[in-house]
Amino acid sequence: MEIKEMYQNLGIQENVYQFGEEILRKLEERFQKIDQTAEYNQLKVVHAMQTNRVSEACLLGTTGYGYNDIGRDTLEAVYASLFHAEDALVRPQITCGTHALALALMSNLRPGDELLSPVGKPYDTLEEVIGIRESKGSLREYGITYKQVDLLPEGAFDYEAIKNAIGEKTKLVTIQRSKGYQTRPTLSVKQIGELITFIKNIKPEILCMVDNCYGEFVETIEPTDVGADMVVGSLIKNPGGGLAPIGGYIVGKKECVENAAFRLTSPGLGKEVGASLGVMSSFYEGLFLAPTVTASALKGAIFAANIYEKLGFAVVPNSTESRHDIIQAVTLGKPESVVAFCKGIQAAASVDSFVSPEPWAMPGYDSDVIMAAGAFVSGSSIELSADGPIKPPYVVYFQGGLTFPHAKLGILKSLQALVDAGLISIK
Ligand SMILES: *Cc1c(COP(=O)(O)O)cnc(C)c1O
Repeated sequence: MEIKEMYQNLGIQENVYQFGEEILRKLEERFQKIDQTAEYNQLKVVHAMQTNRVSEACLLGTTGYGYNDIGRDTLEAVYASLFHAEDALVRPQITCGTHALALALMSNLRPGDELLSPVGKPYDTLEEVIGIRESKGSLREYGITYKQVDLLPEGAFDYEAIKNAIGEKTKLVTIQRSKGYQTRPTLSVKQIGELITFIKNIKPEILCMVDNCYGEFVETIEPTDVGADMVVGSLIKNPGGGLAPIGGYIVGKKECVENAAFRLTSPGLGKEVGASLGVMSSFYEGLFLAPTVTASALKGAIFAANIYEKLGFAVVPNSTESRHDIIQAVTLGKPESVVAFCKGIQAAASVDSFVSPEPWAMPGYDSDVIMAAGAFVSGSSIELSADGPIKPPYVVYFQGGLTFPHAKLGILKSLQALVDAGLISIK
């Protein structure tokens, strides 16, 4: 059977398939560059595993208190090496990215301190962590204040305003690498480094934390390579490689990581407890696969950008610019287009392909959100997925794909769904 017919069996009409093929032909060179980055990062991961003598025993788990958990302790050493950092906390007890970020903030800030975001509004779920939106247990409830400096209209740092915002109380600066649910550009690691240098020149003792969600392995350097004191992320995104079933990480300065460990478990206990149960082999194997999985997701994002830009939609990043995370934003302009796009992604899934996603109120978000995900790990967004908050300008955020062929199928299905709903037409 020809591949066209395979696509037809999966509901892709020939004109949609051909449209995709035409776009793909022009992307060869870019895909090669992505493969080179993956190759570099694969070596980096293997080297970190070898240096720290990962052994078969590391793949097993502990129960109970988890004292002397060699798998957990070695994995944390691997993460520290990989990020060129002093220490790391990598745990299944960190339940998600928001939890990892909240932990890093709450453990390193004290009442009377001030937190500064010099890159505009943080990710939606952090609004409640910080207390921008009122919430039980927020930093604000503990007397930690917050200041924000927005990016300039073209996405550049507002250095003058940042300088003015840094004061006596400023203790920690949070820098979000990825755009999240916004259409601002994602920051490159180099740009993050410039910002950190600027801030440290004004007040060297400020802690610089980077929300690294969706950014890991997209470049050959990470924010710890350019001066970040703490880098934080989720294991059900890039670094879990699709295999980690839960978890988050914090890497960076020894003192910052220790503070986080004492908060995660308890003062006095810190990193010494926390059984790894049965998840270690998937943490290790997922990290091993993460560079190529991230590359697949990146190729999917670039494919999507080129398709939807060609059809006249605004896309961030655009079809040609360099990439610093795996998220592709497409401004579809209509709520029904966001819904159709997400239904198409869902229909491409290997798990739950037959369900139909609907917009819904989600904890942590201030508008209804539609989420398409048919994932092996529930909610995993390194797997093929799409989210769209149902509010103007009706942007859909597409990400993931553990393999490029699957990401490609997802994008073609989204396109087919828009065509079938009469929302777009292709020749
Ligand atoms: C996903 C994400 C988070 C939150 O992670 P969850 O695992 O969904 O809690 C925070 N910041 C950014 C930029 C993200 O992409």
